[in-house]
Amino acid sequence: MTLSIPPPFLPFTRPSIDEATIDDVAGVLRSGWLTSNGPKVQSFEMALSNYFSGRPVRTFNSGTCTMEIALRIAGVGPGDEVITTPNSWVATANVIIQVGATPVFADIDSRTHNIDTDQIAAAISPRTRAIIPVHMCGLPCDMDGLYALAAKHSLRVVEDAAQAIGSSWKGRRIGAFGDLISFSFQVNKNIMTGEGGCLVLNTGDEAALAEKYRLQGVSRSGLDGIDVDVLGGKNNMTEIAAAIGLAQLQRLATFNAQRLALARQYFHCFGEEFESEYGAELPVADFDHSNWHMFHIVLPVRMSRSAFMQRMLDLNIGVGFHYAAIHLFTLYRKRGFKEGMFPVAERVCRQIVTLPLFPSMTTTDVVRVVAAVKSILNQETS
Ligand SMILES: *Cc1c(COP(=O)(O)O)cnc(C)c1O
Repeated sequence: MTLSIPPPFLPFTRPSIDEATIDDVAGVLRSGWLTSNGPKVQSFEMALSNYFSGRPVRTFNSGTCTMEIALRIAGVGPGDEVITTPNSWVATANVIIQVGATPVFADIDSRTHNIDTDQIAAAISPRTRAIIPVHMCGLPCDMDGLYALAAKHSLRVVEDAAQAIGSSWKGRRIGAFGDLISFSFQVNKNIMTGEGGCLVLNTGDEAALAEKYRLQGVSRSGLDGIDVDVLGGKNNMTEIAAAIGLAQLQRLATFNAQRLALARQYFHCFGEEFESEYGAELPVADFDHSNWHMFHIVLPVRMSRSAFMQRMLDLNIGVGFHYAAIHLFTLYRKRGFKEGMFPVAERVCRQIVTLPLFPSMTTTDVVRVVAAVKSILNQETS
C-alpha cells in the first residue's frame, strides 16, 4: 500500500502579518488608548493623504460605511437614482438603498468585467445623481470616459476602489484624482486592518462632514462644547486597526509587486493556447495599471462551477467566486430586477472563479493551481 501525503491546503487569499505589526498592536493595547481618533488613526490618515497626493482622507470601520458616507456627503438621498454595476460585492448596491436612493444597474464589459461606459450613458435619467463604478480586481474602469460622462450630466462619482489600492490610470494613482474614492481594508484586500476603510475627499469641508457622519453627527468646540446637526452613525476606525493599517501601508508596494509577479507567472503557466484549447477566459493581461487584487478565470459553459470548485477543494486548493450578480438576489428581484436584464454580467457571474493569489504565495503554488485547473477541465472535455 502506498500512502500519498496530500499537499497542504492553499487558500485563495491570506493576509501577510509580520511580527513588527503584532508588536505595534500590543503597543496600542498597552497604551490604553484604543479608539476614537487617537494618535494611530491620525498618523494613518496623514500617511494615506500623503499616498493620495495630499488630498484629505478620513478612515472608517468598513469599506461599506465608507461608501454610504460618501453618498451622504454627495447629497444623495430619497428620489435620487445611482447607477452601478451588477458585478460587485452586494455592499456596492446596498449602500444606495441604505441612503434611501434607488439603485440602477448598467451591464459590464465582457473583457474587463468593469461597468460599461456606454451602458451607463444609456441608463442616465433626469433623476440620476451619482455613479458608483467598481475597479474590479484592481483593474481600473475607463476613467476618461466615466468622468467625461459625469461632467456632461453633472453627476457625482463615488468610486468603489475597495480592491484598487495601488492601481493606476495613465500614470496617476487611483484615489489621487477624481471625485470621492472609497477603499476597503477588509482582511482580503491588498492592505487590511481586520475591518476598515477610507475615503479620499475633495475639500476640508467634506472631511469635516465625514468626521460628523462617522460619529453620531457630533461636532465639538473648546473643552465642553458639543452639538449634533446631522444624523451620523458609529463608524470610526479603532487605534488597533489603524496600527495594523500603518504597518500594512508601508509594505503595500512590496505586496503589489509580489502579486504582479504571481499574475505574470499565472499567464506564463496557462500559456497562450489556454483560452482556445479549453474555452475558458483569462483576465485582461494588464501589467501596468492593475494591483492584481484577484486572479479570475471564466469557466467554459459546459463546466459546472460548483463541480469545478469541489474538485479544486478535493486537491486541497481553495477557490472563491467574485461575484454573484447583485440584481438576481431576492432583495433586488423584489425591486423589479430579473434574469436577462444584464446578460454579460449574468454570464460572467455564473462561471467566474477566483484562483489563489496573495503575496506570500510561491511560484510553485501557481504551477500547482494551473495544473489542477487544466486537469479538471481536461476530465470534463473527455
Ligand atoms: C470588500 C468590498 C466592499 C466592502 O468592503 P467592506 O470593508 O467589507 O465593507 C465593497 N465593494 C467591493 C468591490 C469590495 O471588494
